Amino acid sequence: MAEVILEKVGKTYPNGFKAVLDANLKVDDKEFVVLLGPSGCGKTTTLRMIAGLEEITEGTIKIGGKVVNDVEPKDRDIAMVFQNYALYPHMTVYENMAFGLKLRKTPKPEIEQRVKEAARILGIEQLLDRKPKQLSGGQRQRVAVGRAIVRNPKVFLFDEPLSNLDAKLRVQMRAELKRLHQNLQATIIYVTHDQVEAMTMADKIVIMKDGIIQQIGDPYSVYFEP
Ligand code: ADP
Ligand code: ADP
Repeated sequence: MAEVILEKVGKTYPNGFKAVLDANLKVDDKEFVVLLGPSGCGKTTTLRMIAGLEEITEGTIKIGGKVVNDVEPKDRDIAMVFQNYALYPHMTVYENMAFGLKLRKTPKPEIEQRVKEAARILGIEQLLDRKPKQLSGGQRQRVAVGRAIVRNPKVFLFDEPLSNLDAKLRVQMRAELKRLHQNLQATIIYVTHDQVEAMTMADKIVIMKDGIIQQIGDPYSVYFEP
């Protein structure tokens, strides 16, 4: 089970700025939840706290019943996909996807099997020997997703993964990510400022504004302020 629970979560940055206030949220196992809101409303901060990349200054976050801060970063059953892809430029696609598994001392044959399987799912098998700079934006995004998939985490965190892609590719990748969610049977928390993305992908939408969760509901019951 990989529920994600936020209890009275807040973030005060060292300069005193309160980016997130009293956030309460329950993400069910295998649910696809979208955090939606304008730039600067605290979505990324929230996601980074869930990922353990940002200190939680108020309240508690639990994943699968465990308080995140009690679990070593490398033992967290979680993988994050970043907007800028964050690929290592000097490594091949294969090495980028294998890197996290190598760090965790996964046996080589298993790494090879997992990387190839993820590459097959994402349709990037023919790109494994390339470097990131030899890839299109959409291909880079698939590699970034592949690097998350190989770890086989129960929770995926996506931070505006499609916002650097052109409109046509964005539509295609939305459908791909949605299908992927169905295949992986994983919990997904997905950050975007794009209403259409939220409407088409989410089981549940969480609307944030000025660091506060304003509404939580299914795509047909939340109300978007223009
Ligand atoms: P979003 O992802 O919704 O665009 P963020 O979570 O990135 O929003 O940022 C929320 C707010 O916190 C913004 O006003 C931003 O300027 C502020 N912020 C982000 N990082 C820091 C930081 N390290 N110190 C102070 N304020 C920050
Ligand atoms: P190292 O340099 O430590 O051997 P690499 O990550 O470069 O680590 O490669 C590890 C293994 O992964 C290689 O021995 C090979 O079996 C496999 N491998 C690397 N690149 C590819 C690829 N493009 N396709 C299939 N297998 C690969």
